[in-house]
Amino acid sequence: MPITDIPMRIMQKLLPDRIWELEQMLAARPDAVRAMAGSPERFEILAEAMKRGDRPPASRQAVPHVMASLFGIRQSLQSVDRNPATPRAHISEPELAELVGFARSAGVDSVGYARLEGDLVFQRKAVLHGNAIVLTMEMDKESIDTSPSERSFVEVHKTYHHLGRAANQIAGWLRERGYSAQAGHPLNGQALYPPLAQRAGLGWRGLHGLLVTPKLGPRVRLAAVFTSIENLPLAQENDHGWIEEYCERCKLCARECPPQAILDQPLVHANGLVTCIVSDRCFPYFVENYGCSICIRVCPFQRQEYSLLKSHVSERLKKSAG
Ligand code: SF4
Ligand code: SF4
Repeated sequence: MPITDIPMRIMQKLLPDRIWELEQMLAARPDAVRAMAGSPERFEILAEAMKRGDRPPASRQAVPHVMASLFGIRQSLQSVDRNPATPRAHISEPELAELVGFARSAGVDSVGYARLEGDLVFQRKAVLHGNAIVLTMEMDKESIDTSPSERSFVEVHKTYHHLGRAANQIAGWLRERGYSAQAGHPLNGQALYPPLAQRAGLGWRGLHGLLVTPKLGPRVRLAAVFTSIENLPLAQENDHGWIEEYCERCKLCARECPPQAILDQPLVHANGLVTCIVSDRCFPYFVENYGCSICIRVCPFQRQEYSLLKSHVSERLKKSAG
């Protein structure tokens, strides 16, 4: 079905312009955390997909989720106007535990905390606060195991929709209690989530550039809520750095990537940011093959026990030391 047959046309006309306008308004706020020199450019996936007209294999089943995500992105940006004028800055342990419980009831799998600096804010974008509550949500294994397919495409968009809704609900929950908050939608957010989630101790970035989590590997989507809360229990360390060692030997995602878009050696920039994917190679394949997701499907971390994979690395290190 050509993409022009579906309400995408309405979305093309109405929503992206409004979202762009709201992002501009946010970036103009004097108190916002802005991008720095060397901050990443956001890959404009929605705009690029729409530019390609009727070429992508659109899915009727995904449309409600894509539309809900677009409305969710707009809501995340519009609702910052409802933040209290003098927000609270400290949260008690019981209230934070309540927040985590609320996030889980909204379908979130894991919650971590990190400081967001301008280095992870996309060029020409901004977020309201540097205190980040980082969220992960699982994608269904059976669906991802069929990728690239319409089923996996729908699952990805369903998760974007549900996680975006959860982030907006969490921001609303915080506002009701006197905190300021901005939901960062998982689709087209204003900051680069995988390194932010790594800073929050939720996992480690794999060779494919995605966050590898201990429970679900890369089979998750990420979002964040930026808030006025200054005493979030920030992760002091990250125990998952050994994943880099595992990737060094594995490289399965790079071998299995049809357009060879995953770099054999990630590019580390002067500011510490890392480029793992050649977007110009990934995107055409991605958009013509239901969002691909092969690199998620093949990753051993979404199929095998984290502790088992860790023991392989420990054994290897022991042998090379002895
Ligand atoms: S497939 Fe292998 S190399 Fe790629 S991210 Fe997963 S563990 Fe690392
Ligand atoms: S989504 Fe597909 S094309 Fe893009 S990097 Fe992953 S495997 Fe390669």
